[in-house]
Amino acid sequence: SEDDNKSEDYLFKIVLIGDSAVGKSNLLARFARDEFYPNSKSTIGVEFQTQKMDINGKEIKAQIWDTAGQERFRAVTSAYYRGAVGALLVYDISRRQTFHSIGRWLNELHTHSDMNVVTILVGNKSDLKDIREVSTAEGKALAEAQGLFFMETSALDSSNVAAAFETVVKEIYNILS
Ligand code: GDP
Ligand code: MG
Repeated sequence: SEDDNKSEDYLFKIVLIGDSAVGKSNLLARFARDEFYPNSKSTIGVEFQTQKMDINGKEIKAQIWDTAGQERFRAVTSAYYRGAVGALLVYDISRRQTFHSIGRWLNELHTHSDMNVVTILVGNKSDLKDIREVSTAEGKALAEAQGLFFMETSALDSSNVAAAFETVVKEIYNILS
């Protein structure tokens, strides 16, 4: 019955990780509020944002955690990762250094959370074609080698932003149902 459906409540904790300024906060702002901040140093101090999503007719709440900039000091705490069932591992396609950092972030994720955390590698700022430093093929290859989903996104022009979050949430739902 309809009541049975409503009584089922899914809440998935998903964490955003990756180097400073790759666009984590803007991916969340775009996904949850359809907003973008061109100069986002002082943005959004939220710890997490809860977004309702419809997956196969089920209402799912994605509780998406964003850092408050502590990744600059490599000081993301274990509390941030605790209980996470999904992760977006973000780099900036226009800064190779942020792609080099992915291995370190993956280690950190696996140190602090379950090995089975559903993870997507996200190459953000796909709109910056003219100054791209990491090819799509490189991103794909790393994702395949590490067993991660992969997508290139742009928080600026919105491309693939919802798709990246939905990929993670759908996979978590599939595993649990
Ligand atoms: P965070 O430190 O990872 O949370 O990164 P922010 O979300 O604060 O973004 C850092 C900077 O990159 C800001 O100036 C954003 O406006 C910019 N930015 C974020 N996403 C994109 C994007 O998809 N394309 C472009 N061109 N700039 C972006
Ligand atoms: Mg941020």
